[in-house]
Amino acid sequence: MLFSELPLANSLQRAVRAVGYEQPTPIQEQSIPSLLEGKDLLGIAQTGTGKTAAFALPILQLLLDSGKFRAPKTCRALILLPTRELAIQVADCFKQYAQFTAISTTCIFGGVGDASQKNSLIRGVDVLVATPGRLLDLIGQKAVSLKALEFFVLDEADRMLDMGFIHDIRKVVALLPQKRQNLFFSATMPDDITKLAATILRPNPVRVEVTPQSTPIERIRQELYRIDKRRKGALLKELLLEHSEMKKVLVFSRTKHGADKITRVLEKAGIKCAAIHGNKSQTRRQEALKNFKDEKIRVLVATDIAARGIDVDDVSHVFNYDLPDVPETFVHRIGRTARAGKDGIAISFCAPDEEQDLRAIEKLTKVKIPEGDKAIFEKLPPPQKETPESEMRNARGRGFPRREKSAQNPSKAPKQPAPKPVQPAQNSELPQKPGHQKRRRNRPGSRARRRMRESGNTPN
Ligand code: AMP
Repeated sequence: MLFSELPLANSLQRAVRAVGYEQPTPIQEQSIPSLLEGKDLLGIAQTGTGKTAAFALPILQLLLDSGKFRAPKTCRALILLPTRELAIQVADCFKQYAQFTAISTTCIFGGVGDASQKNSLIRGVDVLVATPGRLLDLIGQKAVSLKALEFFVLDEADRMLDMGFIHDIRKVVALLPQKRQNLFFSATMPDDITKLAATILRPNPVRVEVTPQSTPIERIRQELYRIDKRRKGALLKELLLEHSEMKKVLVFSRTKHGADKITRVLEKAGIKCAAIHGNKSQTRRQEALKNFKDEKIRVLVATDIAARGIDVDDVSHVFNYDLPDVPETFVHRIGRTARAGKDGIAISFCAPDEEQDLRAIEKLTKVKIPEGDKAIFEKLPPPQKETPESEMRNARGRGFPRREKSAQNPSKAPKQPAPKPVQPAQNSELPQKPGHQKRRRNRPGSRARRRMRESGNTPN
């Protein structure tokens, strides 16, 4: 099938040609005709399948057909997404597809001032792309109302629930007019998502499923390195120095602190990189993403939430620096490479305490990941002996979240003693000896005391 065979207005056909699409992807082929008939849709699809155009093009067509006009401080179509990056990306798609029409698109998200977003809503918009928190905030401020809404799209529903947006979604749904067309997209369909879909969609929606959730993209070549946690940074660095064909590399870290640590290791080795995660400002995140897209930096280190839905073409390698504890997340991660018919490589590091996560991933994907070339290990520094300090450092992210702050910024250290390990019995890496905390070198103030001692300026 060709796009030209779909009953889309000339202005939309022209835009599709301008962005270079010729044939609809399977989700587009299956969704667009039903949506144009006004049906509700349940789409089970990941990013990378072309799902944005699958809902954007028919919505634009129906907005053009309806003959209605946007009223002040209202929107006609609402697309709800979990993250700012995704919202910006989807709004950009709408703008591209609607570039030869008079349809307007506005994007609203948190983490930035709301003045310009409020201004853009004064005269009303056709398409509003939003994250839930900022939308409810602006509704509360009477900057926008949903009373004239005709189309409602909930995208990345599983991620929305993971991120704790369920209450916000319910609040938004309660504000929608009864008569509307609904589209619901999720990469996975566990029970709670099915229940949520039933509260939003009209009975008997069209169900479209592309790429079953447990099948990773076959074109991805995978490699596994079993490696001690403390040597992961050195391994990543060595692999990048050794393989110049690793040109556009996405590295996934389980924690924000971990992501920053990885970039420090790479920067020291002269490898251009940046990190994106929830502690970085919106501007820094956008800048890092742009530099990565433009290949000004070679490596982008990201947490799962920050990377969700990020659309970057030609990612050559995905590294699972830490294995995710939700196996479906692994599928999402590695799906960032081998897109648009290209090949891709996914390299996973597995520390001894991640073996269980690895088994869950291999079970879900039904793939036994082959081990990479062990010769690289000879280039790494030898494993260091475990010290109480390194044990404490390695335990971070698995039960010592507050300790990170005090280690990074002693002046802001909490006055209370450091929290105890959450479940010491379950983690063999946690320090076992009584009194270990007294010996921690990086406890608040100790660095300053050491410096004073070294300079002979001891208070006692
Ligand atoms: P999405 O799943 O909507 O995030 O789309 C993933 C990527 O596929 C984006 O870069 C789109 O521009 C691209 N894309 C979407 N539909 C098509 C198509 N029919 N032909 C070629 N590329 C497409």
